[in-house]
Amino acid sequence: MQIETLILGAGAAGMMAAAHAGPGVLVVDHAKAPGEKIRISGGGRCNFTNMYCEPARFLGNNPHFHKSALARYTQWDFLDLVQSHNIAWHEKTLGQLFCDGKATQIVAMLLNEMDKAGAQLWLKSEVTGCTFEKGQFKTGIKKDGKAIEVISKNIILATGGKSIPKMGATGLSYDLAQQFGHSLTDTRPALVPFTFEKGRFEELSGVSLNTLAKNDKASFEEGMLFTHRGLSGPAILQISSYWREGESVALDLLPGTDLIDILQAQRSSGGRKNLTTEMATLLPGRLVNFLGQHYDLKGNIADLSNSRIEGLSDMLHSWQLTPTGSEGYRTAEVTLGGIDTDGIDSRTMMSKHQPGLYAIGEAVDVTGWLGGYNFQWAWSSGVAAGRAIAGH
Ligand code: FAD
Repeated sequence: MQIETLILGAGAAGMMAAAHAGPGVLVVDHAKAPGEKIRISGGGRCNFTNMYCEPARFLGNNPHFHKSALARYTQWDFLDLVQSHNIAWHEKTLGQLFCDGKATQIVAMLLNEMDKAGAQLWLKSEVTGCTFEKGQFKTGIKKDGKAIEVISKNIILATGGKSIPKMGATGLSYDLAQQFGHSLTDTRPALVPFTFEKGRFEELSGVSLNTLAKNDKASFEEGMLFTHRGLSGPAILQISSYWREGESVALDLLPGTDLIDILQAQRSSGGRKNLTTEMATLLPGRLVNFLGQHYDLKGNIADLSNSRIEGLSDMLHSWQLTPTGSEGYRTAEVTLGGIDTDGIDSRTMMSKHQPGLYAIGEAVDVTGWLGGYNFQWAWSSGVAAGRAIAGH
């Protein structure tokens, strides 16, 4: 079978590229359905982009690589597409745009765009190998028990990263990129909950609060959730992308609250209020009980010395914790690292080593913050490759 462009992976990036790559496109995926991560994303409502999409909100070895694609197909372009399909949406928080209804609307929209462009889709199809001979790619594909050779001018690697192996994540794009001379940067789970010693926060499981999570590289003020294994919630997932094994993170449990001011004012008003009671007005009660087992929260505020107030403030504004690890690829929303961007043209996503080979989406060493940034990278890089192939 001879075609123009073979796209490996019918995820966010692959489907978007298929809608833009011109005639003769075949998309191949080993899953039973396309866009499965879109379907489960954003709690089933897909946080499809972010109003404040800026290059600084992406990580990767080259902090400039993603600028071009993001500038040429922006969050507003994707929003226009969503609106043209009459998909209702809303901003949840921090510029994060979600569907009002189900995430499957986004999958249906992309399938519709692929259909309009005349792209074919093969599901439940395995890639058995790929070579480049006499100016064309020859890819072996096993479909319905039959071995088919697909000959194409172009190949787009769009099989994503390693996160959620249960959903069929594989290293196919990494392997093929390496085969064609690309190097990979170190990969690791990102946007992932932290784990701690067994039982450390067990009694706090389910407690949530607004927190500023920080280290020397970044800080995020968002929700945090204690789990039976450790810490989760947006603030933790965000800082996890900037964390490495053995390092600590600092948690400000009272961001924007001047605890010293509050306690000194209460002390000078002469009241006999108990410190634990006051803390329970500022923090969840279960957390105050927990902290009370490790730090002295007893006594009346009227009796507190300045140094005790300052010590308490230091602890609550900068609680130093060292995770034992993370939940890993099992629950990580994304993979940090991937195909080294040094080997890819940032305008077209085409390989600098092998003409006709392209790499897009999460497979590439570009990782966004939590909040719609990773999908925006999938859309933007997919459009960049598609347009380059179509000659637009
Ligand atoms: P994917 O969407 O992962 O697509 C890759 C495709 O390749 C899949 O269809 C897969 O079946 C296929 N494939 C893999 N290996 C092979 C193979 N060997 N042969 C054939 N096909 C193969 N990001 C956001 O911006 N907003 C969110 O709300 C959000 N929520 C998320 C929630 C969860 C639980 C998870 C896990 C991720 C979430 N993300 C979110 C991240 C986002 O889903 C990914 O960054 C994005 O899907 C990457 O797009 P992609 O096309 O590169 O890869």
